[in-house]
Amino acid sequence: MTHTIGLIVAAGRGERAGGGTPKQFRPLAGLPLVAHAFDRLGAHAAVEGIVVVTGADQHEALREALGTRAPLAIVEGGATRRESVRAGLDAIAALGGAARVLVHDAARPFVPAAVIDRLVAALDTFPGAIPVLGVADTVATGDALLGNIVDRATLRRVQTPQAFRFDDVMTAHRAWSGATEPTDDAQMLRAAGGDVALVEGDPMLDKITLPGDFAAAEARIGGSRLVRTGMGFDVHRLGDGEELWLGGIRIPHAQGLIGHSDADVALHALTDAILGAIGAGDIGTHFPPSDPQWRGAPSSRFLEHAAALVAAAGARIDHVDLTIICEAPKIGPHRDAIRARIALLLRLPETRISIKATTTERLGFTGRGEGIAAQAIATVSAWEAL
Ligand code: MG
Repeated sequence: MTHTIGLIVAAGRGERAGGGTPKQFRPLAGLPLVAHAFDRLGAHAAVEGIVVVTGADQHEALREALGTRAPLAIVEGGATRRESVRAGLDAIAALGGAARVLVHDAARPFVPAAVIDRLVAALDTFPGAIPVLGVADTVATGDALLGNIVDRATLRRVQTPQAFRFDDVMTAHRAWSGATEPTDDAQMLRAAGGDVALVEGDPMLDKITLPGDFAAAEARIGGSRLVRTGMGFDVHRLGDGEELWLGGIRIPHAQGLIGHSDADVALHALTDAILGAIGAGDIGTHFPPSDPQWRGAPSSRFLEHAAALVAAAGARIDHVDLTIICEAPKIGPHRDAIRARIALLLRLPETRISIKATTTERLGFTGRGEGIAAQAIATVSAWEAL
């Protein structure tokens, strides 16, 4: 066996972080902590699958937090961290075992690939390896009064993921009979006689514990947010005997737009812009005109589908800007209603929706009133690992 499995423990109650929800399910930069940890761990080439351990009453919250992410298994944890990790190790054993396991806390959302590189390399020589950082501050004992200064040169802050040869950590767990409850698995491997190598950790791995840690972590990764834009363009012909649907609302008008769906040219351009921003093809890819089920379909469905794809990719729509090009009807009186409708469909505040209109000075097909055109730009952002 040569493969490496990630084991994420997401079973805590996390009450110190505030907010009423266990912290592993609370969003950081728009994504739950556990989803961040899953993505970062899973993005490493060495990690071939991830098992997640969660609390007995947390399965639903975990599935919601993970969205479309597919763990190898979701396992119910125990009363202590040790029991929870043990449950995860048993699940990996039941799946056929592994060469290596990376035991990680969901409360450490960012896992630099370089740390995993160092951990995996250390396992060539040692049965266990953990990331650590030194202590920069003076460290002292004391309560109300200063006690003794502790020699910080010998102190190490221990982080996760902790890496182990699978069979060794499994044996250590089975053999554990310590009187006190261990706070990590490295202690258990040591107790079983296994050497644990120290590799350089990373401040990005600091644990999210207190309410302020969320904002601090968001600020820390702020520079790594990727912004993408997509553009969309569409035209539909005007004809008699049709309802005019434009920007998700019905506008009273002598003519309407002709098309396979409701022919809402504005929502089509907007849908294509959003799909473009996430590289997900175009509206025809998802809703082929050849498919009879989209005959007369409300274009709001297309837009909502594009928004759902953005969310599933762990991304966020930051802004959309739409221009409707026609001589008639006048868009101005309907602008607020269109903006409100699109905000509702995209579940965004109206401040992030821009609706504009122009004529083409009676030139061209729009100028002659033969059709309506629309163009749109969508700005979408996501964290680097997504
Ligand atoms: Mg169209």
